[in-house]
Amino acid sequence: MATPGPSASQPAVSIAGLSLTYETADGPVYALADIDLTVAPGEFVSFIGPSGCGKTTLLRCVADLEQPTGGLLRVNGVDAGAARLRRDYGFVFQSPALYPWRTIARNVALPLEIFGVPRAERAERVARHLDLVHLTGFGKKFPWQLSGGMQSRASIARALCFEPKLLLMDEPFGALDEIVRDHLNAQLLALWRETSKTILFVTHSIPEAVYLSSRVVVMSPRPGRIIDVVDCTGLGRERPLDIRESPEFLRLAQRVRQGLRAGHAYDD
Ligand code: ADP
Ligand code: MG
Repeated sequence: MATPGPSASQPAVSIAGLSLTYETADGPVYALADIDLTVAPGEFVSFIGPSGCGKTTLLRCVADLEQPTGGLLRVNGVDAGAARLRRDYGFVFQSPALYPWRTIARNVALPLEIFGVPRAERAERVARHLDLVHLTGFGKKFPWQLSGGMQSRASIARALCFEPKLLLMDEPFGALDEIVRDHLNAQLLALWRETSKTILFVTHSIPEAVYLSSRVVVMSPRPGRIIDVVDCTGLGRERPLDIRESPEFLRLAQRVRQGLRAGHAYDD
């Protein structure tokens, strides 16, 4: 085993007292309030909460695409801007956002092209990451020749191409049917185990959150606050899909559901 470096014990993400208020023509929108959360390297943390509670905003803060109005945020021990410049994270958006005129391989390669990675290295990385998401042999196809689930996997390969330690995923499977989603959940879990990435994952689905996560962060309606953090490590790391029928899984799902309900009462 490799000796852990000085960064091994450092949190992947640490958030303290974070808030964000959007100033709009209709007055301030309080998107996030008092968020405290520390994510250790290699954790899989899901965020669940009602629409508009600030889940996307929180992920965008970590990605330095949005500036918090208060509090502290560190990514791998540096501020979010420095982490972005170091390309410490990959971002997977709600829609796969692949360019229809580029092949799958050239879509995955695009960020590498932009950053001037030499051609041979580009080809090697694209092949390796297409393999990781089980798309070997589909590199020459165009996005519209692939199913929704495959497009989603291609967008994950693109986010992984920089080999970031941190992966930010904003409802990546939200538009897919349940059977495809189940399949991708199982594959994502395997990928997480194989690569020991840190993953922050936004979802609307209680079973998806519990199935995938080490911890589930339950958020209240706007302004998004953390209502509960549910530890799911008791399910182990190897999770066959039918674990979702186990008493422990149902207990955890019930606790998440209660948190979401409590959040709604808070809003009344
Ligand atoms: P979620 O992802 O949980 O559905 P968002 O983070 O997208 O929620 O949004 C949180 C709140 O902030 C919502 O009420 C949304 O309308 C508002 N919001 C998001 N982006 C902006 C913006 N650029 N300007 C003003 N309000 C915004
Ligand atoms: Mg969102």
